[in-house]
Amino acid sequence: PIRVRFAPSPTGMFHVGGARSALYNWATARQQGGTFVLRIEDTDAARNKPEWTEGIISALAAIGISTADPAFEGPYFQSQNADRHRKAAEQLLAAGRAYYCDCTREQVAERTGSEQLGYDGFCRDRGLAYEPGRAMRFRTPDEGQTVVVDLIRGTPSFPNSAIEDFVIARGDGSPVFLLANVVDDLDEGITEVIRGEEHLSNTPKQQLLWEALGATPPIWAHLPVIVNEKRQKLSKRRDKVALEDYLSEGYLPAAMVNYLMLLGWGPKDGVELRPYSELEELFRVEDVNNSSAFFDVRKLASFNGEYIRALTATDFVEACQPWLRSPRAPWAPEDFDASVFEQVAPLVQTRITVLGEVVDYVDFLFLPAPVHDEQSWSKAMKPGAADMLRGSRDALAGCDWRAADIQTALEGVAASLELKMGKAQAPVRVAVTGRTVGFPLFESLESLGRERTLSRLDAALA
Ligand code: GLU
Repeated sequence: PIRVRFAPSPTGMFHVGGARSALYNWATARQQGGTFVLRIEDTDAARNKPEWTEGIISALAAIGISTADPAFEGPYFQSQNADRHRKAAEQLLAAGRAYYCDCTREQVAERTGSEQLGYDGFCRDRGLAYEPGRAMRFRTPDEGQTVVVDLIRGTPSFPNSAIEDFVIARGDGSPVFLLANVVDDLDEGITEVIRGEEHLSNTPKQQLLWEALGATPPIWAHLPVIVNEKRQKLSKRRDKVALEDYLSEGYLPAAMVNYLMLLGWGPKDGVELRPYSELEELFRVEDVNNSSAFFDVRKLASFNGEYIRALTATDFVEACQPWLRSPRAPWAPEDFDASVFEQVAPLVQTRITVLGEVVDYVDFLFLPAPVHDEQSWSKAMKPGAADMLRGSRDALAGCDWRAADIQTALEGVAASLELKMGKAQAPVRVAVTGRTVGFPLFESLESLGRERTLSRLDAALA
């Protein structure tokens, strides 16, 4: 059975591109009754931190890749396989497939007349022994082609003469990434390597290593790069790329997963909005596109809105809790009233695209005074607004306190001032909620209560 792996380096937040690779590997393993290996490539001690590893595992759990699933194996840690990496280097040396080299970069550049040409093979047959500072290089074949079998890209072939004798162990004896990555894949019995396109240039070298170590190379699949709206490769300096950031803004994991599965692939029937379980069945790595995938934040947001609206009322209330109960919520915790929130929740649910937006919709209910958004106030408080506020204050002092009665009362005021209701609402809404947008005004006032509504109208008139 098939064995795939996801092999992140724990050097930072969990990138959406990593999430896509993980999901494609996961779907491939599960649909074929195979195994998904998680290997943490933690050999860069200076950049790796244990908390990033924990972050990877919890991010994977958030997108449904659980260590408890029978398809899951690991995590393995690359750093714990260091002995095997060294043995593999020695094996290559003993077989004459590798040699020590004492050339400096400058010497090579001087001989070849270029910084770009790569290593010229100077030490190939010098038979140097190890000494600190001497790197070990792999002797690449001079002739023939290395043909990579790639499920997405066909069979790209690389002339061996163009593959330099690359370094496999550094001057301090430690094996480099290229070799460690191959040895781990080999030890873990990986049959299919599904990873980002940025590794494609490593692949012919790695395939030569597989063969030199006497093993059958895996089948490869290099996933297209992910780009932003300017067609630039998504980068953590420029773009929002951390899965954690999307989740903490209130993108639902299920919506993220749905969207990420479509970054470079789509189901043949064209139905994009659907649960992971269906996508898992339909996904085929060989159907992934080989052109770059556009990370369309707007499409993601619209997916998320659909997923929010599909929640049951109870699940929606539950899903909002992290934002409502957050220490960063603008209201004092004791002023939050769960039953008032439950009352208005359905009106919010139909309007937001990320859960974090819930705060701006309901803050007027839990703050002592409405937020004072200068732009909204100046936009709504036009000449004549005071008449509407005064009239509303009087009408609302006496009407029944239900949305329908509030509506009738305010419509009466607007009619007496010969104003259209749409316009007449604006100053009342801003006086009471602080904002020009929100869920329907009459329900807003009903939930806020008569007393607070009147005192806010008074404050706006003062
Ligand atoms: N650790 C590598 C990375 O983070 C993974 C390389 C691979 O998938 O082979 O990009």
